[in-house]
Amino acid sequence: MSKNKRIVIKVGSGLVVSEETRAPRFAFLHGLMADIAELRAKGHEVVLTSSGAAAIGLDMIGIEPADAGLQDKQAAAACGQPLIINAYKQVALEFGIGIAQVLLTSEEMENRRRYLNTKNTIERLLKNGILPIVNENDTVTTKEIRVGDNDRLAAKVAQMIHAEEFVMLTDIDGLYDRPPHEPGARFVPEVTDVADFLDATTGKGLLGSGGMLTKMQAANMAQNAGASARIAEGIIEAPISSVLSGRRRHTHCLAHGDPQSAWRVWLTDRLQMAGSVTVTAAAAAGLRAGTQGIGTADLVATSGEYQKGDVLHVYDEQGTEIGRGLTNFSSNETMLLVRCSEEEVSDVLGYDSHSDIIADRDFALLGEHNLSWDRPAESELASMG
Ligand code: GLU
Repeated sequence: MSKNKRIVIKVGSGLVVSEETRAPRFAFLHGLMADIAELRAKGHEVVLTSSGAAAIGLDMIGIEPADAGLQDKQAAAACGQPLIINAYKQVALEFGIGIAQVLLTSEEMENRRRYLNTKNTIERLLKNGILPIVNENDTVTTKEIRVGDNDRLAAKVAQMIHAEEFVMLTDIDGLYDRPPHEPGARFVPEVTDVADFLDATTGKGLLGSGGMLTKMQAANMAQNAGASARIAEGIIEAPISSVLSGRRRHTHCLAHGDPQSAWRVWLTDRLQMAGSVTVTAAAAAGLRAGTQGIGTADLVATSGEYQKGDVLHVYDEQGTEIGRGLTNFSSNETMLLVRCSEEEVSDVLGYDSHSDIIADRDFALLGEHNLSWDRPAESELASMG
């Protein structure tokens, strides 16, 4: 790598915490930090996303990983996060690297204002040569706002800071075209479209929350934002630079040639579904032709409880996702506005308002590389017909 790059690294729980002793794997952390120090010395900027808080903390809570429920994991993360950061602090000290702890939830990613705020904080840390160490703030995340895996969380960070490289280190050397233990499983060195491999990616490690599926989704997010994503085994000796230089076998998910704008990327790559709307055939055709936003008369159904400013998934009546857009109304208001004409909207709401549920400029049509989400079940859709 010649040019100075921004590199986001994600390390999984199984690398950071020993499955046997449930203590930090200092040899790995040391090798990782030595490599990070070298990359930084060459002028690259690095952000590390590290799992392991829940895995190491479960011991203190006295629960086996396989038996742990959400609350056990939340309590375990509260116990484990300082242990993880302390372990990094010790090894970073040896290389003269200052570290910072950045704990995030999906809200920092999904809410535009918090997203930009978090971006500024990370930029500020990088400017001072500090190594941000990111994890999900598991202790405070309820089921609704939980990302659940650091693969996608780290991918969002890569999008946020416009990283060129996103490296996910795990316990296997990359992607296989079917579960790797199955006979005939073949290694996949290069991926253009992750959609080709989603079916092949079930199963996950014992300690972590992610698996190959979340890694593929994360890779897709990075690719969409113009970053190249790599999945590699977390070895001790030069775990990152050996991958970036191509010296070591790994799966390389190529950055898409024509990266989308930061606004479009933020609108289309979501971690949670706040809500959805289903639109009429005529409105669907209009959206696909790129000519209009979504007005009150275009709605067929809605789902979820959402606020003004949340991003909604937009479906046609067949259940195919068309795009995603920022809503101007809460779900309660949207319900009130069903079948209102443009003139009635202000009267119904009690304040002066236009009738765009989603304005044209706040809507992004899904492109060929965007992964669509299934429409919520029929029982969750409030019909407006
Ligand atoms: N945030 C979780 C932890 O620190 C890990 C999530 C994951 O395994 O991806 O334990």
